[in-house]
Amino acid sequence: MTTTDALIAAADAHSAHTYHPLPVVIATADGAWMTDVEGRRYLDLLAGYSALNFGHGNRRLVEAARAQLERVTLTSRAFHHDRFAAFCGELAALCGMEMVLPMNTGAEAVETAVKTARKWGYRVKGVPAEMAKIVVAGNNFHGRTTTIISFSTDPEARADYGPYTPGFAIVPYGDLTALRSAVTENTVAVLLEPIQGEAGVLVPPAGYLAAVRELTLEREVLFVADEIQSGLGRTGRTFACEHEGVVPDVYVLGKALGGGIVPVSAVVANAEVLGVFRPGEHGSTFGGNPLACAVALEVIAMLRSGEYQARAAELGAHLLRELGTLTGTGRVTAVRGRGLWAGVDVAPGYGSGREVSERLMDRRVLVKDTHGPTIRLSPPLVISREDLDWGLEQLRAVLGL
Ligand code: PLP
Repeated sequence: MTTTDALIAAADAHSAHTYHPLPVVIATADGAWMTDVEGRRYLDLLAGYSALNFGHGNRRLVEAARAQLERVTLTSRAFHHDRFAAFCGELAALCGMEMVLPMNTGAEAVETAVKTARKWGYRVKGVPAEMAKIVVAGNNFHGRTTTIISFSTDPEARADYGPYTPGFAIVPYGDLTALRSAVTENTVAVLLEPIQGEAGVLVPPAGYLAAVRELTLEREVLFVADEIQSGLGRTGRTFACEHEGVVPDVYVLGKALGGGIVPVSAVVANAEVLGVFRPGEHGSTFGGNPLACAVALEVIAMLRSGEYQARAAELGAHLLRELGTLTGTGRVTAVRGRGLWAGVDVAPGYGSGREVSERLMDRRVLVKDTHGPTIRLSPPLVISREDLDWGLEQLRAVLGL
């Protein structure tokens, strides 16, 4: 038995089987490359579902973490610490907003956004008690908590977790007419991914986000943008909403905010919205801890330079151009994406998303399928053009081109 097989068997014996990972066991990583326990090197074209936008072992981020490890890592919010003000101030400034509510994982931040919107609805908008509604999109992915899966349309994510949290209306993604008729006087928020990641990198029709912005302003409803996967440089802009000149009321951030080192998430909004909370009404032991703040501060500083967004825009245009050539081959039925982020639907007869991912793994490229025929590409933004081209060559090869 190889080391890989032994480690996978041992993990299978003692872990709940909530995932179906590719059969590779990573030992180390650097930049866009990972090395497994057998010493084989792989090009990482997933980047931890966009959590590793700045690459593995990014020197600036590791250094920021290391320096903070030597100082203080956790105080809880029972006390103040000397990184908190800078983190909140810098993140708010990056977002053009006034306030930050830090959490850890993406799902916690989405939960926090749901609680924020409801409280805002009752305390500011004047929605009658227990009547608040939030409109979401079909095929959304916002995380795994009981409330969040209550408004998922994915049977796998929902099955046997009921009873579900009420208070959500689901409309088809990109359908403005459906959205308009779902909004009532008790609607407190429209919660959307500006680009749906898990659904297969679905970019909404042009003008959709801008129209959602207009509608939500008109109807006194918060526009909550879940930019956990789409934000922080991935699409070639700091936020995917920017592509339509849209500023939502609430940003929900996670993944890359912690640089792939620590889980850091946040809800960012103006004081009119996040000012609804009073002490004791929400919190998290680890939310906004010194280590998280130190790493996130470095992430924010890196994003402030605009360098990563520019890189994602430039390399992303190249990636989408190259992938676009595959649609003419009959091996691929659709390519979608924005920036350094793409969903590729493999044509019937050329393998499921899973099979293509496995074949790519055999060629030392790591990606992950989403649903059925789709593979998703979200390389670290620091990937070199040569490495990206090599990865694309492997994709062509596994498709028989
Ligand atoms: N929201 C979006 C758009 C996501 O893509 C994800 C994760 O993939 C989440 C929320 C949940 O984040 P986490 O897995 O950190 O809870």
